Amino acid sequence: MKKVVILGSTGSIGTQSLEVISEKSGFLVLAISGNSNIELLEKQVREFNPKFVAVPNEEKAKEFKIKIKDTETQVLSGKESLEYIASLPDADIVITGIVGIAGLLPTLAAVKAGKRIGLANKETLVTAGDIVMSTAQKTGAEIIPVDSEHSAIFQCMAARVNDKDYDSELKRILLTASGGPFFGKTKDELRNMKAADALRHPNWSMGAKITVDSATLMNKGLEVLEAKHLFSVPLSKVDVLVHRQSIVHSMVEFADNAVIAQMGVPDMKLPIQYALTYPERLSMCDNALDLTKTPLTFEYADTDTFRCLSLAYAAGETGGTLPTVLNGANEAAVALFLEGKIGFLDIGNIVEMAMDDHKVIKNPQIQDILSADLWAREYVMANLHKIQ
Ligand code: NDP
Ligand code: MG
Repeated sequence: MKKVVILGSTGSIGTQSLEVISEKSGFLVLAISGNSNIELLEKQVREFNPKFVAVPNEEKAKEFKIKIKDTETQVLSGKESLEYIASLPDADIVITGIVGIAGLLPTLAAVKAGKRIGLANKETLVTAGDIVMSTAQKTGAEIIPVDSEHSAIFQCMAARVNDKDYDSELKRILLTASGGPFFGKTKDELRNMKAADALRHPNWSMGAKITVDSATLMNKGLEVLEAKHLFSVPLSKVDVLVHRQSIVHSMVEFADNAVIAQMGVPDMKLPIQYALTYPERLSMCDNALDLTKTPLTFEYADTDTFRCLSLAYAAGETGGTLPTVLNGANEAAVALFLEGKIGFLDIGNIVEMAMDDHKVIKNPQIQDILSADLWAREYVMANLHKIQ
């Protein structure tokens, strides 16, 4: 039995991970975590009977303890509770489904403990990729991407990620992007887009933050940075192609011009299951791909209209604490957009302003990264009046 910890079990990635586990034998849910949705967390406790549940929010944890006092599950509270369950000695696999930089310290705890990590929380690598990857090398932690594009690249590379000769064989990574709900729109049309419009993603059903990131193309920008760290490639070797059908999840082009792609219907259960079972592949009863159903098209992204993608490349080129500022300002701006307090184009504008005004720290430690994140969030709140 493989013992699995799911960080963020109440979210889109978390619930789909539990679905995959419930459909397979050989996995046992050791611990889960939620933040605010204690109703769903209670259902999950009753169905999966985990040993631990971490609820970082103290008030919610108190309420939750009362709800499940008839069960044997132990409730842990406070932010450290996430790190605790992420590094439990008997955990075999940790799925990181927390959204945002809140996932950084728990993911790092799992890396320090040398676990296999099914990495969904891309913000961890965007902000602290150097620290996370070098720690993984020391501890032997295995980072298996759950993000569909990175799972695809990992599969195309046939897991030769750590092979030194691979650098010269690899020409470039072709990261595919659906283009999101606003593909083809002009800046004028985008100006009036509201949260409800941005939340209508054509192909994927995901949490609110990543769905807005898909609409601004910031998600693709974060994924470019995620790929840089995961596969240890320079940004010049990561290109983005808009592929509206989300069937080709990404591709790798080699020195001899051979291009290898991984395809499948857009369903996160496939990369989640692969991260759980790698290197094995288990059967999956639904979602077989029928290639006769739709033509496959590819084109370059409009980075002039969708500025966030260019901002992410720029942040990655500079490095240091700048990607953290890109990420932190974006998290704050997306939250404001979802609350209807700023417009769609303001997201990119305020992120750019924060990046311009940030004093970059070159080789940041974790504390510098957390401080840069806080700085970016405060910057957004303090400068809102300038964009409105
Ligand atoms: P959701 O918003 O659906 O879920 C987020 C989870 O994180 C919930 O369990 C939530 O708890 C928890 N959470 C939120 N804030 C905090 C916090 N401050 N501390 C601890 N836990 C917190 O997000 P997704 O599942 O969509 O995304 C999760 C991650 O996976 C993101 O990094 C995203 O980029 C990545 N990803 C997601 C994909 C998808 O298909 N959804 C695809 C590829 C990557 P609660 O709900 O109880 O408040
Ligand atoms: Mg993705």
